[in-house]
Amino acid sequence: MSAVTTLLARNRSFAEHFAAGDLAIPPRLATIIVTCLDARVDPAHVFGLELGDALVIRNAGGWITPGVLQDLAVLGVLASSLPGPSTMRLELVVVHHTDCGMARLADPAIQQQAAQKLGLTAEEIAAMAITDPAASVREDIERLRATPGIPDQMVVSGLVYDVADGIVEEVVPPAPLRATP
Ligand SMILES: [Zn+2]
Repeated sequence: MSAVTTLLARNRSFAEHFAAGDLAIPPRLATIIVTCLDARVDPAHVFGLELGDALVIRNAGGWITPGVLQDLAVLGVLASSLPGPSTMRLELVVVHHTDCGMARLADPAIQQQAAQKLGLTAEEIAAMAITDPAASVREDIERLRATPGIPDQMVVSGLVYDVADGIVEEVVPPAPLRATP
């Protein structure tokens, strides 16, 4: 039996009580969450998100990758094209977590394997390892700061989720990306 059978059965229960057909596209909390694809780190559960609350971008580790930067650029264009207050500013929250599978990329043997598969250098793979989520989330915020095109006034923050106790700690408090003169 495919997992799809389970997913469709759960969807039918979900759809029985569905009452969110009139949600607007802009997220209610005006927030984008970037986090890891780990099954234990689902923002809907961790932050009690309802449908329509937030945009969520997930990848291995929750890194700000070139793909994430491209999504942010697309969102910027779409947000300015939507009806309503054009000043809607999306806040960006980056969430890394403890016990991330990306910690394995710190192992030189795995770095070699991954480098071959992905066509990257072992150093590039090593840079994707997450062994200290507080440090990596700070690194991600710095990467955002160094990226031209992300608005100065965008409020960004960095959080770490502990998969052992369910608690999220603030590592980089919310603040505009860059100080403006
Ligand atoms: Zn992870």
